[in-house]
Amino acid sequence: MYDCIVIGAGIAGAVSARKLAEEAGKKVLVLERRSHIGGNCYDEPDEHGILIHNYGPHIFHTGIEEVYQYLSRFTDWYAFGHEVVAKVGDRLIPVPFNLNTLHMVYEKEKADALEQKLIAAYGEGSRVPIMKLRENEDPDIREIAQFVYENVFLKYTMKQWGQKPEDISPEVTGRVPVLVSYDNRYFQDKYQGVPKEGFTPMFERMLDHENITVETGVDCKERLRFEENQIYFDGTPFDGEVIYTGALDELFDCQFGRLPYRSLRFDFEHYEKESYQGHSVVNYTVSEDFTRITEFKYLTGQKNTDGTTIVKEYPFAYTGAEGEIPYYAILEPKNQELYEKYHALAGGLPHFYLLGRLAEYKYYNIDAMTKKAMELADAIMAENTKR
Ligand code: FAD
Ligand code: UDP
Repeated sequence: MYDCIVIGAGIAGAVSARKLAEEAGKKVLVLERRSHIGGNCYDEPDEHGILIHNYGPHIFHTGIEEVYQYLSRFTDWYAFGHEVVAKVGDRLIPVPFNLNTLHMVYEKEKADALEQKLIAAYGEGSRVPIMKLRENEDPDIREIAQFVYENVFLKYTMKQWGQKPEDISPEVTGRVPVLVSYDNRYFQDKYQGVPKEGFTPMFERMLDHENITVETGVDCKERLRFEENQIYFDGTPFDGEVIYTGALDELFDCQFGRLPYRSLRFDFEHYEKESYQGHSVVNYTVSEDFTRITEFKYLTGQKNTDGTTIVKEYPFAYTGAEGEIPYYAILEPKNQELYEKYHALAGGLPHFYLLGRLAEYKYYNIDAMTKKAMELADAIMAENTKR
């Protein structure tokens, strides 16, 4: 009855399902454990009618033209340059730390001199990871690095990862480099914003195809059985493609132990006032137990509201307890080794594909995930043509 089963209706599952249904004419079944589609991009109006992102603020940003064009088939965009500020003492300073921040932090003469040094060392417009800036031998540049390390990275990273910046993968802190420019935006990509009517309607349109059936509230293990060389669907051998976007250790009952993840608790609060913080996202880089506060109306551009809804994010170590969600893979060699053991188990399954932030144990943004899903669907179609 189905040619292909996709497990998970996040961006990885939705894009691959749509391409295979539309371009290869495959009958695709999408199984989603949660009660809704969209994965962590899911959004919905709260009880006050304010559009919230249930799993933390999501801003689509990309420089990949084909990804932008593909998703634009399913949505228009509310385009804006996303800006973040950090609360340091009683000031709000732009993050990533950039030349505007530099001039807020140091008095004019010193800031002008430091600006020249940064430009001479790295070039105008460059993006310098904090861990790299700290290695610079010039004491003046090291002073800036120390300021940024202490006021932007140390406490926030301790909260987010339970580890110091120097003890986590440089790939992670490198996502928010020091910018040798006056650009206050959090991302420098050509396209950025949110789907005009929200992420969920974009997913609804993507999955709305005659060849796609979506079942929510279903854990794949209720319908599928994974044995060494064979996958069974509702008790009978299934020889079509299976794309899995869930956590890989869970699929094999965590038999080698759990893959470590960081999770988040989201505390939503509503206020009957026009504005709470006047910014979409404020990072708490030196104080508080939460990492950041998002005020949704400034993120979504929603105008027709009386009050305002915010969310505070509290990170913690994922334990696998009921209701917890694994949000962030922890990129460390020993975790990668454990992942490889599960990967080897999956290797024996025919036409079985691992895709997504969980299944690949990687730190993907929406755009990179979309690209990977498009590529996988293309590869499956190319393979089918050969067979
Ligand atoms: P998911 O969205 O996690 O989807 C996987 C789906 O599979 C889930 O719905 C899950 O319920 C389902 N599933 C798992 N196991 C099973 C099972 N056994 N049976 C059935 N279904 C199952 N990216 C950006 O580009 N911009 C941002 O601003 C941004 N902000 C983020 C903020 C936070 C707090 C987090 C955690 C991530 C953020 N991301 C952002 C990253 C973005 O969320 C991911 O790139 C994207 O969600 C990955 O999609 P996915 O389909 O791989 O995973
Ligand atoms: N980071 C930080 N302070 C900030 C912003 C980011 O220390 O104000 C560090 C932190 O370790 C974080 C990483 O940089 O996990 C990547 O930040 P990003 O905003 O990309 O994280 P995400 O949006 O994926 O949670």
